[in-house]
Formats: sequence, structure tokens, C-alpha cells
Amino acid sequence: MQSILQRAETQHTLTASEIVSLLGCQDPFSLFAAANRVRQKYVGDGVYLRGLIEFSSFCKNDCMYCGLRGSNTHAQRYRLSPGQIVEMAQKAAGYGYKTVVLQSGEDLWFTVERMCEIIREIKKLGLVITLSIGEKTREEYAAYRQAGADRYLLRIETTDKQLYEKLDPRMSFENRMRCLYDLKDLGYEVGSGSLVGLPGQTLESLADDLLFFKQLPVDMAGIGPFIPHPHTPLSQESVEGHFELSLKMMALMRLLLPDINIPATTAMETLHPQGRLLALKCGANVVMPNVTEGDYRKQYELYPGKICTAESPAQCRGCIQGKIKSIGRFVSNRPGFHGEYLKNR
Ligand code: SAH
Ligand code: SF4
Repeated sequence: MQSILQRAETQHTLTASEIVSLLGCQDPFSLFAAANRVRQKYVGDGVYLRGLIEFSSFCKNDCMYCGLRGSNTHAQRYRLSPGQIVEMAQKAAGYGYKTVVLQSGEDLWFTVERMCEIIREIKKLGLVITLSIGEKTREEYAAYRQAGADRYLLRIETTDKQLYEKLDPRMSFENRMRCLYDLKDLGYEVGSGSLVGLPGQTLESLADDLLFFKQLPVDMAGIGPFIPHPHTPLSQESVEGHFELSLKMMALMRLLLPDINIPATTAMETLHPQGRLLALKCGANVVMPNVTEGDYRKQYELYPGKICTAESPAQCRGCIQGKIKSIGRFVSNRPGFHGEYLKNR
């Protein structure tokens, strides 16, 4: 294992079977330490913060794992007005965020015209914009890009086509892939990622996910543990092992793609009180604090037990800054594009 890790740390290559053995290893300490060294060398000690605005909990899709799936009649649905979204972005800029992430279910109320108008208004504030609003046509992606969107987050969730289509019954694997290639082609910084611990998912398919991210290649990769939601068909699934496996995935991601942005996901902290800090020590370099206000935070329930639903955006900003400092890192005041650290050194 040591020689495999040494090669991964210096050459950033691993075969599928090497990844499988590292994902299955009993003592991941040296994997985590190697990822931390690579993180420091390629992206530094600065942590990029992205302010997350969860602007609609309506979704036309029906992903089996997600609390916002269309069939969940218990879900609380809300939709912020364009004015409210821009106002939250303005406040985020006031808290010092350089990037806002606009995330929602696939909500058809937000037509391409409405979305482009929101993007144009937010760009006037000098913010970098990441969209995370699901599958759209190439023309729609082109229109958002032209309006000023810079980045796009669309997790592949799993590269196992059969599993993908079983868990996302209204969606096709080919279309998800098409979206990712279109986004790349249109000049977005593209973020993808996996849900870790899905029922039926194997270590082999997780290894394929990582190799796919390297091949695309992604500019960002968000790895999140699957957390069963009580009002979904997967409510009885276990959460056992998902946290540690997600950390290993993040660490391997860092070894394979040394200079990309890797968020310490909020779902990690739902499973472990120090989840985001542990992730930051295993390869991650980004945190996405919530800047959505009021009750909406609670209502945007992709999974249960979401952290910080009672906090305000200002509290989250202060809290995460303190946590980041406590591990000897700092909040970067740069926009945090892919590769920026190496260029500016
Ligand atoms: N609708 C958009 C964006 C919102 S969902 C989309 O699907 O791309 C954002 C992410 O939430 C999804 O990519 C998925 O990986 C994650 N998610 C959904 N349900 C989850 C669960 N039960 N546990 C953990 N993460 C979940
Ligand atoms: Fe909708 Fe995204 Fe949830 Fe799927 S994961 S149901 S697309 S919000």
C-alpha cells in the first residue's frame, strides 16, 4: 500500500483495482496524510467559502434518495422570488463571500428568462456565480453562461448506469452525461461528484466514479455520504460506514486530481460533529456555508438532520471561520477558481 500511495502522491495515477484496495483498507491514516500533503502543495492552506442559496424546494424529478423528490407529499415546498434571491446574494457579498451557489430542485417556474435575469442582477454585485439547478438543454446552459454564470455543479451521483437509472427513475444516465459534457464545452468550471453509500453501490463503481472525474476532468468534486430520508423509498437503508468511505473518496480524489476544488460537504457534518474539519484534513479545501434565511433552510430537506437550520447566515459565517482557524487554516479572500493557487504563488 505504501508504494501505491507514494506513486499516487507524486504521479497522481491509480488503477481501478488500486483504488478499490485503498477504499477497502482498514487503516486509512497514510492515505489521509498523503491527501493532506497534496492539498497543501497544490491548493494551499486557504479555504474558499461559497455562500449557498437554496432558492426552491420544488422538484419535478423523483430521485429515490432525496427528500425533495416530487412524490414526497410530506415535503414543504417553497420558492423564493427573484428579488429575494438577489437580496440574499447581496447580503452574502456583505459577509465577504466571493461566490454564491444558487441551488434548487428542478423547478420549472424558473424559466430560462427568469434565471438569466437573476444571474445578470447578481453579476452586478461582482460575485462569481455557481449554478446547481439540475439537467437542462444545451441552449439553456449556453444562455445562463452568456448571462454570466461561471460554474455549474451537477453530481453524476454514480457512474453505475443501472444503479443510476434505478435510483433516478425519471432520468437517463446518458442525459446526465450529456449535461456534463455540454457544460464543459460551454466553458463552465464544472463540478460533479458522487453520493457514497447508495444501496447496491460497490467499491468498484466508486473507483469508476473517481476515474470518470479524472477523465472529464472536473474542476470541482463534491463527495457526499448518502443519508436515508424517512419519506423516501430508501428510508430503511443504513448509514453505517458512509462517513469513512466518503473521507476515503475525498482523499483519493485529491491524489488523482491534485489542484481541483473539493468541498467539505455539509452532509459530512450531519454524520459527525467534526465532519467538515475532518474532510478539510483529508483533502478538501472548500466549504459552502448556507446563506439562505429563515425557515427555508429547514424546508430544503434533501436529507434529514441537516446542520445549522436554526442559525442565521451571519452566525454560520462566524462559526465556520473559527473552525477553519482552529485547524491552522484560513479563509481565503480570493474567488477560488480551479488552479488559481498555483498560478498566483
Ligand atoms: N436538483 C439538483 C440540485 C439539488 S440536489 C440536482 O439534483 O443536481 C443536490 C444534491 O443533493 C444531489 O446531487 C445529491 O447528491 C444530494 N442529495 C440528495 N439526497 C440526498 C441524501 N438523501 N443524502 C445525501 N445527499 C443527498
Ligand atoms: Fe430533485 Fe435534485 Fe432531489 Fe433529484 S436530487 S429529487 S433532482 S432536488
